[in-house]
Amino acid sequence: MTDTIRFEDIQANEPDTDALASAYDALLAEVTAATDADAAAALVDRWDGLRREWSTWSAMAGLRFRQDTTDAEAKATRERADALAPVVKEHNTRVKLALLEHPLRPQLEERIGAHAFSLWEADVAAFKPEIADLLVKESALDSEYVSLLSDARVSVRGEEYNLSELGKLTTSADRELRHEANLARSQWVLESAGELDRIYDELVKTRHEMATTLGYENYIELGYKLMQRVDYDQADVESWRQEVLELVVPLATELHARQREVLGLETLYAWDEPVHSLEGNPAPAGDHDWMVERAIEMFDDLGHGMGEFFRDMATKGYIDLKARQGKAGGGFCTSFPSVGMPYVFANFNGTKGDVIVFTHEMGHAFQNFSASDKIVDYQWPTYEAAEIHSMSLEFLTWPQMDRFFEGSEAERYRQIHLIEGLLFLPYGVAVDHFQHLVYARPEATPAERLEMWREVEALYMPWRNWGDLDFGAQGRRWQLQGHIFSVPFYYIDYTLAQSVALQFWLKAEADFDGAMNDYVALCKRGGESSFQELVRSAGLMPPFQRGCLSDVITRSRDALELD
Ligand code: ZN
Repeated sequence: MTDTIRFEDIQANEPDTDALASAYDALLAEVTAATDADAAAALVDRWDGLRREWSTWSAMAGLRFRQDTTDAEAKATRERADALAPVVKEHNTRVKLALLEHPLRPQLEERIGAHAFSLWEADVAAFKPEIADLLVKESALDSEYVSLLSDARVSVRGEEYNLSELGKLTTSADRELRHEANLARSQWVLESAGELDRIYDELVKTRHEMATTLGYENYIELGYKLMQRVDYDQADVESWRQEVLELVVPLATELHARQREVLGLETLYAWDEPVHSLEGNPAPAGDHDWMVERAIEMFDDLGHGMGEFFRDMATKGYIDLKARQGKAGGGFCTSFPSVGMPYVFANFNGTKGDVIVFTHEMGHAFQNFSASDKIVDYQWPTYEAAEIHSMSLEFLTWPQMDRFFEGSEAERYRQIHLIEGLLFLPYGVAVDHFQHLVYARPEATPAERLEMWREVEALYMPWRNWGDLDFGAQGRRWQLQGHIFSVPFYYIDYTLAQSVALQFWLKAEADFDGAMNDYVALCKRGGESSFQELVRSAGLMPPFQRGCLSDVITRSRDALELD
């Protein structure tokens, strides 16, 4: 037994606005007056403590709301947290500015690393008190979107489902059932189209106004600052999208042609794409509790303290994995920095997706836990680097999959995981390309945005045939992609990280222990360096280097028996 605090015992006190202001005022005065490096470093620690307390409370508010979006008290708390966030941001911005301009900056950089200062430079360029009201408006719109989707109920064959639960039907081996489930989802999107269009339109306009208020031409550059992208730019991202277009789209087209043959279909429609063989996708051989047991064995076997860590999460209340009514969709990992523990939220529905979401989010959790002694800025890396830990763990746990799937199902799981990992790249860059089009023309109408989506879909997913799914044919698929509403430009990150995760897969095949050592070392580094530096430190190639996918594509063709 470790001495890790139980989740229910975490003290997360709602901050008092005045007390917070005094604490920051006092801190700021001392930072400004500091004349020796020891004193300044101690003040950075004090600031770190304030930020840990705040992060714990606001993470708790966000989590409680997503656990039950119908709970009025949780909703009100989340709204107070949303309203307070820009205030806290303003306090932190003042401290960051003071540190950036401090005469002791070189000495502080020596102690905590120059990367924190680069991150703060991006942060201060993305905020002024003048946009505080716009930020509150943005999070209110985001809450509206989250509620709209989590309240959604669709009926298939007389049963009611929420959108997460529907995932089990849309990936069913029964083609007719898949089609009906997709039609129901399409119908829901069409009925909600007015709301979805309005919320997104207001979000785009609100964000554009923030950008122009801060002196940017449009939201794109601001979006990059908000994502703290300090070592690459729009041109690098464009070159990566091009690499995917040239190398992965042809492979993906080939894979879909083969899938059509394997499924014995004349036409492969959008609702057929999630299924890779006539018997359907492999499903885990047990329920939720059984899977948690298997996961304990898996992490014990992987070593490096992962077993002990996961036991703590499972037995002390740091996981919430089952889908239920009123619970927000999706899966994520959040953390409570004041106690140094992460939390995994998911919506298990009995499909192989449960295993993927689980290994993915546990990768985030293990990384965060491994770096929890660092300053807040380094506990999580920037998003694209953070996804390396999660997506790589999906591949590093391949040899463990025989625990979750029976017999030859484990091998089928690995094949499909690889296929879907590759097929994800065109979709991921399409989401990114779409957002660049949207924010470059904020005045576009909702109908023009649908046209933009159809354009990128035709470019990166030329095989896509929506058949009678009108929401897809209209160009509305993206409206179910929460990131596009909630965290703009947070999507290319998954594809950038996937390029690194695929390299980890190759490495693990050649030398598993070496790959695990590199993985754990990377987790411990947290976010102390920028994306490309972290990738290079693990001996891997950043995706902006042309040719980074060559070996991966060659090995994938071989593994998937394509000639
Ligand atoms: Zn992730």
